[in-house]
Amino acid sequence: MAAPTPRIDLMLAGGVTGEVGARVAQVVTERLGAQVSLSRAPAAAAWGKSPDGAQRDAGALLESLLAGAGETRLLLTDADLCTPVLQYVFGAARRGATVAVVSLARLAAPAADPRGPALLAERAGKEALHELGHGFGLTHCREPHCLMRLAHTVQQVDERGNDFCSACRDHLNEVFSAGPTQPGGSRS
Ligand SMILES: [Zn+2]
Ligand SMILES: [Zn+2]
Repeated sequence: MAAPTPRIDLMLAGGVTGEVGARVAQVVTERLGAQVSLSRAPAAAAWGKSPDGAQRDAGALLESLLAGAGETRLLLTDADLCTPVLQYVFGAARRGATVAVVSLARLAAPAADPRGPALLAERAGKEALHELGHGFGLTHCREPHCLMRLAHTVQQVDERGNDFCSACRDHLNEVFSAGPTQPGGSRS
């Protein structure tokens, strides 16, 4: 029997383009079999890049995104994110398939790179799947090409493949079959 389809609200904040949003929606739909609805984040100013360039606390952003049981929200922002212990993070998620945030601030290709916007969109898609993976209860994985492998740098994001390994995939299928879970701790 096919697992129930997860429903994900994908929200774009600040200067995140519709092009990147559409690409992320596409990979999330393909890889998670999710039903994705794409929208501009309400009160985008609070979630996008701040005028003074200050970093935003990833945990606080997750807090303000909290959704109802059974709902999953993913915010794409151009704000640079940090946590109390990490200088920067590419994203963060709260376990229980509830909320995840991905920052594009450090994912852009250098200006001279001809892959430019396409590479940014690809990285954003991988990070979105990684954070949603945490949201659905996955921890970091040692498989070299698995999307759940820990990445501290964009090079490491690029080295990941475009899919979950079979063990992580099995876990996701179990979670989707079991239905909504209780919210738990945060991960990045
Ligand atoms: Zn894995
Ligand atoms: Zn992670």
